[in-house]
Amino acid sequence: MSRTHPFRRGLVWLRNDLRLRDNTALYRAAKSCGALAAIYITCPQTWQSHDDGEPVVAFRLACLRELQQSLAAHNIPLYFLELQTFAQVPRALVQIAGKLEIDALFANAEYPLNERHRDAAVRAALKGLRVPVEYSTDRTLLPPGALKTAGGEAYKVFTPFKRAFIARCGGDDFAPLPLPRKMNDEADWPKWIQVQGGNNLVRTIPERLQGYGLLPDGAGRLYGWTPGEKAGARRLRAFRGEIENYADQRDFPGLDATSHLSPYLNCGAVSVRQCVQMALARSSGHWVGGNDGVSCWLGELLWREFYTHLIAAFPRLSMHKPFKPETDRVPWSSDRDRFRQWYAGQTGVPIVDAAMRQLNTCGWMHNRLRMVVASFLTKNLLIDWRWGERYFMRHLLDADLAANNGGWQWAASTGTDAVPYFRVFNPYSQSKRFDRDGEFIRQFVPELRHLDRDAIHCPPQLAGYPLPICDVAQSRKHAIAVFSGLK
Ligand SMILES: Cc1cc2nc3c(=O)[nH]c(=O)nc-3n(C[C@H](O)[C@H](O)[C@H](O)COP(=O)(O)OP(=O)(O)OC[C@H]3O[C@@H](n4cnc5c(N)ncnc54)[C@H](O)[C@@H]3O)c2cc1C
Repeated sequence: MSRTHPFRRGLVWLRNDLRLRDNTALYRAAKSCGALAAIYITCPQTWQSHDDGEPVVAFRLACLRELQQSLAAHNIPLYFLELQTFAQVPRALVQIAGKLEIDALFANAEYPLNERHRDAAVRAALKGLRVPVEYSTDRTLLPPGALKTAGGEAYKVFTPFKRAFIARCGGDDFAPLPLPRKMNDEADWPKWIQVQGGNNLVRTIPERLQGYGLLPDGAGRLYGWTPGEKAGARRLRAFRGEIENYADQRDFPGLDATSHLSPYLNCGAVSVRQCVQMALARSSGHWVGGNDGVSCWLGELLWREFYTHLIAAFPRLSMHKPFKPETDRVPWSSDRDRFRQWYAGQTGVPIVDAAMRQLNTCGWMHNRLRMVVASFLTKNLLIDWRWGERYFMRHLLDADLAANNGGWQWAASTGTDAVPYFRVFNPYSQSKRFDRDGEFIRQFVPELRHLDRDAIHCPPQLAGYPLPICDVAQSRKHAIAVFSGLK
Protein backbone atom coordinates (compact mmCIF):
# COMPACT_ATOMS: atom_id res chain seq x y z
CA MET A 1 0.00 0.00 0.00
CA SER A 2 1.43 3.36 -1.01
CA ARG A 3 0.94 6.51 1.01
CA THR A 4 -1.52 7.96 -1.48
CA HIS A 5 -3.16 4.83 -2.92
CA PRO A 6 -4.78 1.93 -1.08
CA PHE A 7 -3.49 -0.52 -3.72
CA ARG A 8 -0.04 -0.79 -5.28
CA ARG A 9 -1.00 -2.52 -8.55
CA GLY A 10 -4.53 -2.83 -9.85
CA LEU A 11 -6.23 -4.47 -12.80
CA VAL A 12 -9.38 -3.15 -14.44
CA TRP A 13 -11.34 -5.79 -16.31
CA LEU A 14 -13.19 -4.22 -19.26
CA ARG A 15 -16.36 -5.82 -20.61
CA ASN A 16 -19.27 -3.86 -22.13
CA ASP A 17 -17.87 -0.52 -20.96
CA LEU A 18 -15.40 0.25 -23.74
CA ARG A 19 -14.57 3.87 -23.05
CA LEU A 20 -12.02 5.98 -21.21
CA ARG A 21 -14.40 8.76 -20.13
CA ASP A 22 -16.99 8.35 -17.41
CA ASN A 23 -16.14 4.70 -16.84
CA THR A 24 -16.79 4.02 -13.15
CA ALA A 25 -14.55 0.97 -12.71
CA LEU A 26 -11.68 2.56 -14.62
CA TYR A 27 -12.01 5.85 -12.77
CA ARG A 28 -12.10 4.16 -9.36
CA ALA A 29 -9.22 1.85 -10.22
CA ALA A 30 -7.04 4.73 -11.40
CA LYS A 31 -7.83 6.63 -8.23
CA SER A 32 -7.10 3.72 -5.90
CA CYS A 33 -4.01 2.13 -7.46
CA GLY A 34 -0.38 3.23 -7.74
CA ALA A 35 -0.10 1.45 -11.10
CA LEU A 36 -2.88 0.15 -13.29
CA ALA A 37 -3.30 -2.26 -16.21
CA ALA A 38 -6.49 -3.21 -18.08
CA ILE A 39 -7.58 -6.57 -19.41
CA TYR A 40 -10.15 -7.70 -21.94
CA ILE A 41 -11.14 -11.37 -22.07
CA THR A 42 -12.97 -12.98 -24.96
CA CYS A 43 -14.99 -16.17 -24.53
CA PRO A 44 -16.24 -16.94 -28.05
CA GLN A 45 -17.74 -20.30 -27.13
CA THR A 46 -19.88 -18.81 -24.37
CA TRP A 47 -20.65 -15.78 -26.51
CA GLN A 48 -21.93 -18.07 -29.27
CA SER A 49 -24.10 -19.93 -26.79
CA HIS A 50 -25.52 -16.51 -25.85
CA ASP A 51 -26.20 -15.79 -29.54
CA ASP A 52 -23.77 -12.86 -29.57
CA GLY A 53 -23.53 -12.31 -33.32
CA GLU A 54 -20.72 -11.25 -35.61
CA PRO A 55 -21.82 -7.59 -35.80
CA VAL A 56 -21.82 -7.01 -32.07
CA VAL A 57 -18.53 -8.86 -31.54
CA ALA A 58 -16.82 -7.05 -34.42
CA PHE A 59 -18.08 -3.72 -33.02
CA ARG A 60 -16.66 -4.55 -29.58
CA LEU A 61 -13.24 -5.47 -30.97
CA ALA A 62 -13.10 -2.32 -33.06
CA CYS A 63 -14.01 -0.16 -30.03
CA LEU A 64 -11.39 -1.97 -28.01
CA ARG A 65 -8.69 -1.13 -30.55
CA GLU A 66 -9.40 2.59 -30.20
CA LEU A 67 -9.61 2.29 -26.43
CA GLN A 68 -6.20 0.63 -26.28
CA GLN A 69 -4.70 3.82 -27.70
CA SER A 70 -6.56 6.09 -25.29
CA LEU A 71 -5.48 3.92 -22.36
CA ALA A 72 -1.87 3.95 -23.56
CA ALA A 73 -1.94 7.75 -23.46
CA HIS A 74 -2.87 7.36 -19.78
CA ASN A 75 0.00 4.88 -19.25
CA ILE A 76 -2.46 2.02 -18.76
CA PRO A 77 -1.49 -1.02 -20.84
CA LEU A 78 -4.39 -3.08 -22.20
CA TYR A 79 -3.92 -6.83 -22.15
CA PHE A 80 -5.96 -9.21 -24.25
CA LEU A 81 -6.75 -12.81 -23.39
CA GLU A 82 -8.64 -15.26 -25.56
CA LEU A 83 -10.34 -18.05 -23.63
CA GLN A 84 -13.29 -20.15 -24.75
CA THR A 85 -15.82 -20.09 -21.93
CA PHE A 86 -16.80 -18.08 -18.87
CA ALA A 87 -15.94 -21.13 -16.75
CA GLN A 88 -12.23 -20.64 -17.58
CA VAL A 89 -12.17 -17.02 -16.43
CA PRO A 90 -11.73 -17.35 -12.63
CA ARG A 91 -8.70 -19.65 -12.87
CA ALA A 92 -7.10 -17.50 -15.57
CA LEU A 93 -7.57 -14.34 -13.50
CA VAL A 94 -6.04 -16.03 -10.46
CA GLN A 95 -2.92 -16.86 -12.47
CA ILE A 96 -2.77 -13.41 -13.99
CA ALA A 97 -3.23 -11.68 -10.65
CA GLY A 98 -0.39 -13.79 -9.23
CA LYS A 99 2.00 -13.18 -12.13
CA LEU A 100 1.28 -9.47 -12.45
CA GLU A 101 1.29 -9.05 -8.65
CA ILE A 102 -2.15 -7.48 -8.69
CA ASP A 103 -3.64 -6.49 -5.36
CA ALA A 104 -7.13 -5.39 -6.50
CA LEU A 105 -9.48 -6.07 -9.42
CA PHE A 106 -12.10 -3.57 -10.66
CA ALA A 107 -14.97 -4.07 -13.11
CA ASN A 108 -18.40 -2.70 -13.90
CA ALA A 109 -21.26 -5.02 -12.96
CA GLU A 110 -23.12 -7.04 -15.60
CA TYR A 111 -26.58 -8.44 -14.94
CA PRO A 112 -27.51 -11.43 -17.12
CA LEU A 113 -27.39 -14.65 -15.12
CA ASN A 114 -24.28 -16.30 -16.56
CA GLU A 115 -22.32 -13.05 -16.23
CA ARG A 116 -23.34 -12.80 -12.58
CA HIS A 117 -22.29 -16.40 -11.91
CA ARG A 118 -18.96 -15.75 -13.64
CA ASP A 119 -18.35 -12.62 -11.59
CA ALA A 120 -19.24 -14.31 -8.30
CA ALA A 121 -16.82 -17.15 -9.16
CA VAL A 122 -14.06 -14.62 -9.92
CA ARG A 123 -14.61 -12.89 -6.60
CA ALA A 124 -14.48 -16.22 -4.75
CA ALA A 125 -11.36 -17.38 -6.61
CA LEU A 126 -9.44 -14.14 -5.97
CA LYS A 127 -10.40 -14.19 -2.32
CA GLY A 128 -7.95 -17.09 -1.99
CA LEU A 129 -5.18 -14.68 -3.05
CA ARG A 130 -6.57 -11.93 -0.81
CA VAL A 131 -7.23 -9.82 -3.89
CA PRO A 132 -10.44 -7.80 -3.40
CA VAL A 133 -12.82 -7.43 -6.34
CA GLU A 134 -14.97 -4.33 -6.75
CA TYR A 135 -17.95 -4.36 -9.13
CA SER A 136 -19.40 -0.89 -9.79
CA THR A 137 -22.77 0.31 -11.07
CA ASP A 138 -22.13 1.79 -14.48
CA ARG A 139 -24.41 0.27 -17.12
CA THR A 140 -27.50 1.63 -15.42
CA LEU A 141 -28.26 4.90 -13.65
CA LEU A 142 -29.35 3.20 -10.45
CA PRO A 143 -28.13 -0.21 -9.28
CA PRO A 144 -30.70 -2.89 -10.19
CA GLY A 145 -32.75 -3.59 -7.07
CA ALA A 146 -32.59 0.02 -5.87
CA LEU A 147 -36.21 0.69 -6.83
CA LYS A 148 -38.86 -1.43 -5.15
CA THR A 149 -42.66 -1.38 -5.09
CA ALA A 150 -44.47 -0.60 -1.83
CA GLY A 151 -44.60 -4.39 -1.33
CA GLY A 152 -40.79 -4.56 -1.54
CA GLU A 153 -40.72 -6.24 -4.95
CA ALA A 154 -39.04 -5.42 -8.23
CA TYR A 155 -41.23 -3.39 -10.59
CA LYS A 156 -42.82 -5.54 -13.28
CA VAL A 157 -44.51 -2.74 -15.22
CA PHE A 158 -42.72 0.14 -16.89
CA THR A 159 -44.93 3.16 -16.05
CA PRO A 160 -44.80 2.81 -12.23
CA PHE A 161 -41.07 2.06 -12.53
CA LYS A 162 -40.56 5.27 -14.48
CA ARG A 163 -42.66 7.26 -12.03
CA ALA A 164 -40.68 5.91 -9.07
CA PHE A 165 -37.40 6.62 -10.85
CA ILE A 166 -38.25 10.23 -11.63
CA ALA A 167 -39.62 10.84 -8.13
CA ARG A 168 -36.36 9.63 -6.62
CA CYS A 169 -33.74 11.10 -8.93
CA GLY A 170 -32.66 14.65 -9.56
CA GLY A 171 -30.62 15.29 -12.69
CA ASP A 172 -27.37 16.02 -10.88
CA ASP A 173 -27.22 12.53 -9.44
CA PHE A 174 -25.88 11.32 -12.74
CA ALA A 175 -23.17 13.81 -13.61
CA PRO A 176 -20.41 12.02 -15.58
CA LEU A 177 -17.10 11.38 -13.80
CA PRO A 178 -13.92 13.33 -14.49
CA LEU A 179 -11.22 11.71 -16.66
CA PRO A 180 -9.35 8.91 -14.90
CA ARG A 181 -6.03 9.81 -13.32
CA LYS A 182 -3.02 9.45 -15.60
CA MET A 183 -0.62 6.77 -14.33
CA ASN A 184 3.09 7.48 -13.91
CA ASP A 185 4.42 5.07 -16.50
CA GLU A 186 3.78 1.59 -17.73
CA ALA A 187 7.37 0.44 -17.91
CA ASP A 188 7.16 -2.23 -15.25
CA TRP A 189 4.26 -4.13 -16.86
CA PRO A 190 5.47 -7.12 -18.94
CA LYS A 191 4.72 -7.21 -22.68
CA TRP A 192 3.05 -10.60 -22.32
CA ILE A 193 2.70 -13.47 -19.89
CA GLN A 194 2.04 -17.14 -20.22
CA VAL A 195 -1.33 -18.40 -19.03
CA GLN A 196 -1.60 -22.11 -18.31
CA GLY A 197 -3.68 -24.23 -20.64
CA GLY A 198 -4.98 -21.30 -22.66
CA ASN A 199 -3.75 -18.54 -24.88
CA ASN A 200 -1.25 -16.10 -23.48
CA LEU A 201 -1.95 -12.67 -22.12
CA VAL A 202 -0.82 -10.35 -24.90
CA ARG A 203 -1.09 -6.73 -25.96
CA THR A 204 -2.28 -7.36 -29.52
CA ILE A 205 -5.98 -7.33 -30.24
CA PRO A 206 -6.74 -9.90 -32.95
CA GLU A 207 -8.55 -8.92 -36.13
CA ARG A 208 -11.17 -11.60 -35.57
CA LEU A 209 -12.08 -14.38 -33.17
CA GLN A 210 -12.56 -18.08 -33.64
CA GLY A 211 -16.08 -18.64 -34.98
CA TYR A 212 -16.54 -14.96 -35.81
CA GLY A 213 -15.76 -13.56 -39.23
CA LEU A 214 -17.08 -10.04 -39.77
CA LEU A 215 -14.39 -7.40 -40.30
CA PRO A 216 -14.60 -3.62 -40.62
CA ASP A 217 -14.37 -2.28 -44.20
CA GLY A 218 -11.32 -0.42 -45.50
CA ALA A 219 -12.41 2.77 -43.73
CA GLY A 220 -12.83 0.95 -40.40
CA ARG A 221 -16.64 0.92 -40.59
CA LEU A 222 -19.13 -1.86 -39.95
CA TYR A 223 -22.28 -1.62 -42.09
CA GLY A 224 -21.46 2.08 -42.41
CA TRP A 225 -21.12 2.61 -38.65
CA THR A 226 -17.86 3.89 -37.18
CA PRO A 227 -17.11 2.10 -33.91
CA GLY A 228 -15.41 3.69 -30.92
CA GLU A 229 -15.73 6.21 -28.13
CA LYS A 230 -14.90 9.18 -30.37
CA ALA A 231 -17.56 8.27 -32.95
CA GLY A 232 -20.06 7.70 -30.11
CA ALA A 233 -19.32 11.16 -28.70
CA ARG A 234 -19.79 12.68 -32.18
CA ARG A 235 -23.20 11.01 -32.47
CA LEU A 236 -24.22 12.26 -29.07
CA ARG A 237 -23.17 15.81 -30.01
CA ALA A 238 -25.01 15.59 -33.33
CA PHE A 239 -28.19 14.41 -31.62
CA ARG A 240 -28.04 17.38 -29.24
CA GLY A 241 -29.28 19.50 -32.13
CA GLU A 242 -32.10 17.06 -32.98
CA ILE A 243 -33.48 16.10 -29.60
CA GLU A 244 -36.22 18.79 -29.56
CA ASN A 245 -37.89 17.05 -32.54
CA TYR A 246 -37.67 13.59 -31.03
CA ALA A 247 -41.19 13.36 -29.54
CA ASP A 248 -42.83 14.32 -32.85
CA GLN A 249 -40.60 12.47 -35.27
CA ARG A 250 -39.18 9.40 -33.57
CA ASP A 251 -41.85 7.01 -34.89
CA PHE A 252 -41.25 7.72 -38.57
CA PRO A 253 -38.49 5.42 -39.87
CA GLY A 254 -38.00 7.48 -43.02
CA LEU A 255 -37.13 10.61 -41.00
CA ASP A 256 -34.17 9.11 -39.23
CA ALA A 257 -34.99 11.17 -36.14
CA THR A 258 -33.64 8.90 -33.38
CA SER A 259 -30.17 9.12 -31.87
CA HIS A 260 -28.61 5.94 -33.35
CA LEU A 261 -26.66 5.62 -30.12
CA SER A 262 -27.72 2.06 -29.31
CA PRO A 263 -24.59 0.27 -30.62
CA TYR A 264 -22.43 2.68 -28.60
CA LEU A 265 -24.52 2.46 -25.44
CA ASN A 266 -24.58 -1.29 -25.74
CA CYS A 267 -20.82 -1.86 -25.81
CA GLY A 268 -20.26 1.08 -23.48
CA ALA A 269 -18.51 3.42 -25.95
CA VAL A 270 -21.01 6.00 -24.67
CA SER A 271 -22.30 6.03 -21.09
CA VAL A 272 -25.92 6.45 -20.10
CA ARG A 273 -24.87 9.29 -17.77
CA GLN A 274 -23.35 11.17 -20.71
CA CYS A 275 -26.70 10.79 -22.51
CA VAL A 276 -28.65 12.06 -19.51
CA GLN A 277 -26.30 15.00 -19.08
CA MET A 278 -26.66 16.03 -22.72
CA ALA A 279 -30.46 15.73 -22.57
CA LEU A 280 -30.88 17.60 -19.28
CA ALA A 281 -28.70 20.42 -20.56
CA ARG A 282 -31.39 20.97 -23.22
CA SER A 283 -34.22 21.16 -20.70
CA SER A 284 -32.69 23.20 -17.86
CA GLY A 285 -32.35 20.04 -15.80
CA HIS A 286 -35.98 18.91 -16.02
CA TRP A 287 -36.77 15.22 -16.58
CA VAL A 288 -40.37 16.11 -17.31
CA GLY A 289 -42.10 19.38 -18.16
CA GLY A 290 -39.00 21.08 -19.59
CA ASN A 291 -39.03 20.01 -23.21
CA ASP A 292 -41.14 17.28 -24.84
CA GLY A 293 -38.34 15.89 -26.97
CA VAL A 294 -36.03 15.62 -23.97
CA SER A 295 -38.65 13.98 -21.70
CA CYS A 296 -39.57 11.52 -24.40
CA TRP A 297 -35.93 10.56 -25.08
CA LEU A 298 -35.14 10.23 -21.36
CA GLY A 299 -38.20 7.96 -21.19
CA GLU A 300 -36.57 5.68 -23.77
CA LEU A 301 -33.36 5.58 -21.74
CA LEU A 302 -35.56 4.51 -18.83
CA TRP A 303 -36.91 1.61 -20.89
CA ARG A 304 -33.30 0.49 -21.20
CA GLU A 305 -32.88 0.96 -17.46
CA PHE A 306 -36.12 -0.94 -16.73
CA TYR A 307 -35.20 -3.97 -18.85
CA THR A 308 -31.74 -4.15 -17.28
CA HIS A 309 -33.27 -4.05 -13.80
CA LEU A 310 -35.68 -6.80 -14.89
CA ILE A 311 -32.90 -9.07 -16.16
CA ALA A 312 -31.18 -8.70 -12.79
CA ALA A 313 -34.37 -9.39 -10.81
CA PHE A 314 -35.77 -12.31 -12.82
CA PRO A 315 -33.19 -15.01 -13.65
CA ARG A 316 -35.70 -16.84 -15.88
CA LEU A 317 -35.37 -14.02 -18.43
CA SER A 318 -31.75 -15.11 -18.99
CA MET A 319 -32.91 -18.70 -19.50
CA HIS A 320 -35.12 -18.39 -22.59
CA LYS A 321 -38.20 -18.52 -20.38
CA PRO A 322 -41.23 -16.26 -20.76
CA PHE A 323 -41.90 -13.65 -18.12
CA LYS A 324 -45.50 -14.88 -17.91
CA PRO A 325 -45.15 -18.65 -17.31
CA GLU A 326 -48.60 -19.51 -18.70
CA THR A 327 -47.53 -18.31 -22.15
CA ASP A 328 -45.18 -21.29 -22.38
CA ARG A 329 -48.31 -23.20 -23.36
CA VAL A 330 -48.76 -21.26 -26.61
CA PRO A 331 -48.52 -23.83 -29.43
CA TRP A 332 -45.89 -21.88 -31.35
CA SER A 333 -45.49 -22.80 -34.98
CA SER A 334 -42.13 -24.11 -36.15
CA ASP A 335 -42.65 -23.35 -39.82
CA ARG A 336 -39.07 -22.86 -40.98
CA ASP A 337 -40.06 -21.70 -44.47
CA ARG A 338 -42.16 -18.85 -43.15
CA PHE A 339 -39.44 -17.98 -40.66
CA ARG A 340 -36.96 -17.81 -43.54
CA GLN A 341 -39.30 -15.59 -45.55
CA TRP A 342 -39.63 -13.33 -42.52
CA TYR A 343 -35.92 -12.87 -41.91
CA ALA A 344 -35.04 -12.55 -45.59
CA GLY A 345 -37.60 -9.74 -46.05
CA GLN A 346 -39.74 -11.82 -48.44
CA THR A 347 -43.09 -11.93 -46.64
CA GLY A 348 -44.98 -9.92 -49.26
CA VAL A 349 -45.86 -7.33 -46.58
CA PRO A 350 -43.77 -4.32 -47.70
CA ILE A 351 -43.16 -2.63 -44.34
CA VAL A 352 -42.08 -5.92 -42.75
CA ASP A 353 -39.79 -6.70 -45.66
CA ALA A 354 -38.28 -3.20 -45.71
CA ALA A 355 -37.60 -3.44 -41.97
CA MET A 356 -35.96 -6.86 -42.14
CA ARG A 357 -33.82 -5.73 -45.07
CA GLN A 358 -32.80 -2.68 -43.04
CA LEU A 359 -31.62 -5.04 -40.30
CA ASN A 360 -29.79 -7.30 -42.74
CA THR A 361 -27.98 -4.45 -44.49
CA CYS A 362 -27.47 -1.90 -41.69
CA GLY A 363 -27.11 -4.07 -38.54
CA TRP A 364 -29.80 -1.85 -37.01
CA MET A 365 -33.56 -1.38 -37.24
CA HIS A 366 -35.82 1.48 -36.29
CA ASN A 367 -37.69 0.91 -33.01
CA ARG A 368 -41.21 1.23 -34.48
CA LEU A 369 -40.30 -1.41 -37.06
CA ARG A 370 -38.81 -3.73 -34.44
CA MET A 371 -42.26 -3.73 -32.85
CA VAL A 372 -43.99 -4.28 -36.20
CA VAL A 373 -41.81 -7.20 -37.35
CA ALA A 374 -41.84 -8.82 -33.90
CA SER A 375 -45.63 -8.61 -33.75
CA PHE A 376 -45.87 -10.00 -37.29
CA LEU A 377 -43.63 -12.99 -36.46
CA THR A 378 -45.16 -13.85 -33.11
CA LYS A 379 -48.83 -12.99 -33.68
CA ASN A 380 -49.53 -13.24 -37.41
CA LEU A 381 -47.16 -16.15 -38.06
CA LEU A 382 -47.43 -17.42 -34.46
CA ILE A 383 -43.74 -18.34 -34.56
CA ASP A 384 -41.91 -18.65 -31.24
CA TRP A 385 -40.60 -15.26 -30.07
CA ARG A 386 -37.32 -16.96 -29.17
CA TRP A 387 -36.58 -17.53 -32.87
CA GLY A 388 -36.97 -13.82 -33.56
CA GLU A 389 -35.06 -12.89 -30.44
CA ARG A 390 -32.14 -15.07 -31.55
CA TYR A 391 -32.18 -13.67 -35.09
CA PHE A 392 -32.00 -10.13 -33.71
CA MET A 393 -29.20 -11.05 -31.29
CA ARG A 394 -27.16 -12.47 -34.15
CA HIS A 395 -27.68 -9.56 -36.54
CA LEU A 396 -27.98 -6.33 -34.54
CA LEU A 397 -24.99 -4.12 -33.81
CA ASP A 398 -26.79 -3.13 -30.59
CA ALA A 399 -27.77 -6.69 -29.58
CA ASP A 400 -28.37 -6.66 -25.84
CA LEU A 401 -30.02 -9.49 -23.92
CA ALA A 402 -32.02 -7.23 -21.61
CA ALA A 403 -33.45 -4.81 -24.22
CA ASN A 404 -33.91 -7.46 -26.88
CA ASN A 405 -35.57 -10.00 -24.62
CA GLY A 406 -37.73 -7.22 -23.18
CA GLY A 407 -38.76 -6.02 -26.66
CA TRP A 408 -39.54 -9.49 -27.95
CA GLN A 409 -41.50 -10.56 -24.91
CA TRP A 410 -43.40 -7.27 -25.00
CA ALA A 411 -44.37 -7.84 -28.65
CA ALA A 412 -45.23 -11.51 -28.08
CA SER A 413 -47.37 -10.72 -25.00
CA THR A 414 -45.30 -13.14 -22.95
CA GLY A 415 -43.56 -10.31 -21.08
CA THR A 416 -44.18 -7.27 -18.94
CA ASP A 417 -46.50 -5.33 -21.25
CA ALA A 418 -49.39 -3.96 -19.22
CA VAL A 419 -51.66 -4.18 -22.30
CA PRO A 420 -53.01 -7.73 -22.70
CA TYR A 421 -52.45 -10.20 -25.51
CA PHE A 422 -54.91 -8.59 -27.91
CA ARG A 423 -52.33 -5.97 -28.85
CA VAL A 424 -51.53 -7.10 -32.41
CA PHE A 425 -50.03 -4.51 -34.72
CA ASN A 426 -51.63 -4.29 -38.14
CA PRO A 427 -48.58 -3.93 -40.40
CA TYR A 428 -50.59 -2.21 -43.15
CA SER A 429 -52.01 0.51 -40.90
CA GLN A 430 -48.60 0.94 -39.25
CA SER A 431 -47.12 1.35 -42.70
CA LYS A 432 -49.66 3.94 -43.82
CA ARG A 433 -49.36 5.84 -40.56
CA PHE A 434 -45.59 5.91 -40.11
CA ASP A 435 -44.31 5.67 -43.71
CA ARG A 436 -47.09 7.66 -45.32
CA ASP A 437 -45.44 8.26 -48.69
CA GLY A 438 -43.71 4.88 -48.73
CA GLU A 439 -40.24 6.47 -48.84
CA PHE A 440 -38.80 4.03 -46.33
CA ILE A 441 -40.24 1.04 -48.22
CA ARG A 442 -38.83 2.41 -51.47
CA GLN A 443 -35.38 2.67 -49.91
CA PHE A 444 -35.20 -1.00 -48.90
CA VAL A 445 -37.57 -2.76 -51.31
CA PRO A 446 -36.48 -1.53 -54.74
CA GLU A 447 -38.93 -3.92 -56.44
CA LEU A 448 -41.70 -1.57 -55.26
CA ARG A 449 -40.00 1.73 -56.05
CA HIS A 450 -42.30 2.53 -58.98
CA LEU A 451 -45.53 2.23 -56.93
CA ASP A 452 -47.36 5.32 -55.73
CA ARG A 453 -48.11 6.15 -52.10
CA ASP A 454 -51.47 4.38 -52.18
CA ALA A 455 -50.37 1.12 -53.75
CA ILE A 456 -47.00 0.69 -52.04
CA HIS A 457 -48.27 -0.39 -48.62
CA CYS A 458 -50.25 -3.35 -49.96
CA PRO A 459 -49.19 -3.89 -53.57
CA PRO A 460 -51.09 -5.81 -56.25
CA GLN A 461 -49.55 -9.01 -57.60
CA LEU A 462 -46.22 -8.09 -59.17
CA ALA A 463 -43.51 -10.00 -60.94
CA GLY A 464 -40.50 -10.31 -58.63
CA TYR A 465 -42.29 -9.58 -55.36
CA PRO A 466 -44.15 -12.24 -53.32
CA LEU A 467 -47.80 -12.19 -52.36
CA PRO A 468 -48.39 -11.86 -48.59
CA ILE A 469 -47.52 -15.10 -46.80
CA CYS A 470 -50.45 -14.74 -44.44
CA ASP A 471 -53.82 -13.09 -44.13
CA VAL A 472 -53.22 -10.43 -41.51
CA ALA A 473 -56.84 -10.17 -40.32
CA GLN A 474 -57.44 -13.90 -40.00
CA SER A 475 -54.11 -14.65 -38.36
CA ARG A 476 -54.77 -11.86 -35.86
CA LYS A 477 -58.05 -13.48 -34.86
CA HIS A 478 -56.36 -16.85 -34.55
CA ALA A 479 -53.59 -15.45 -32.31
CA ILE A 480 -56.11 -13.80 -30.02
CA ALA A 481 -58.08 -17.06 -29.78
CA VAL A 482 -54.89 -18.98 -28.91
CA PHE A 483 -53.93 -16.51 -26.18
CA SER A 484 -57.42 -16.30 -24.71
CA GLY A 485 -57.45 -20.12 -24.56
CA LEU A 486 -54.53 -19.98 -22.10
CA LYS A 487 -56.66 -18.45 -19.37
C1 LIG B 1 -38.30 -6.54 -30.58
C2 LIG B 1 -37.34 -5.48 -30.10
C3 LIG B 1 -35.99 -5.80 -29.93
C4 LIG B 1 -35.09 -4.83 -29.48
N1 LIG B 1 -33.76 -5.17 -29.31
C5 LIG B 1 -32.89 -4.26 -28.82
C6 LIG B 1 -31.52 -4.61 -28.61
O1 LIG B 1 -31.09 -5.75 -28.80
N2 LIG B 1 -30.68 -3.63 -28.14
C7 LIG B 1 -31.12 -2.35 -27.88
O2 LIG B 1 -30.32 -1.51 -27.48
N3 LIG B 1 -32.42 -2.02 -28.05
C8 LIG B 1 -33.30 -2.92 -28.52
N4 LIG B 1 -34.62 -2.55 -28.72
C9 LIG B 1 -35.05 -1.20 -28.31
C10 LIG B 1 -35.01 -0.12 -29.40
O3 LIG B 1 -35.63 -0.56 -30.56
C11 LIG B 1 -33.59 0.33 -29.72
O4 LIG B 1 -32.89 0.62 -28.54
C12 LIG B 1 -33.60 1.61 -30.59
O5 LIG B 1 -34.29 1.38 -31.77
C13 LIG B 1 -32.18 2.04 -30.87
O6 LIG B 1 -32.15 3.16 -31.71
P1 LIG B 1 -31.64 4.57 -31.18
O7 LIG B 1 -30.32 4.40 -30.52
O8 LIG B 1 -31.73 5.52 -32.32
O9 LIG B 1 -32.74 4.87 -30.08
P2 LIG B 1 -33.31 6.22 -29.46
O10 LIG B 1 -34.75 6.27 -29.82
O11 LIG B 1 -32.48 7.39 -29.76
O12 LIG B 1 -33.26 5.90 -27.89
C14 LIG B 1 -32.09 6.18 -27.11
C15 LIG B 1 -31.63 4.94 -26.40
O13 LIG B 1 -32.62 4.48 -25.49
C16 LIG B 1 -32.60 3.06 -25.44
N5 LIG B 1 -33.90 2.56 -25.89
C17 LIG B 1 -34.74 3.15 -26.73
N6 LIG B 1 -35.88 2.43 -26.85
C18 LIG B 1 -35.73 1.36 -26.06
C19 LIG B 1 -36.55 0.25 -25.75
N7 LIG B 1 -37.78 0.10 -26.26
N8 LIG B 1 -36.07 -0.69 -24.91
C20 LIG B 1 -34.85 -0.56 -24.37
N9 LIG B 1 -34.04 0.48 -24.61
C21 LIG B 1 -34.46 1.43 -25.45
C22 LIG B 1 -31.49 2.59 -26.37
O14 LIG B 1 -30.33 2.41 -25.62
C23 LIG B 1 -31.36 3.77 -27.33
O15 LIG B 1 -30.09 3.86 -27.93
C24 LIG B 1 -35.54 -3.52 -29.18
C25 LIG B 1 -36.91 -3.21 -29.35
C26 LIG B 1 -37.79 -4.18 -29.80
C27 LIG B 1 -39.24 -3.84 -29.97
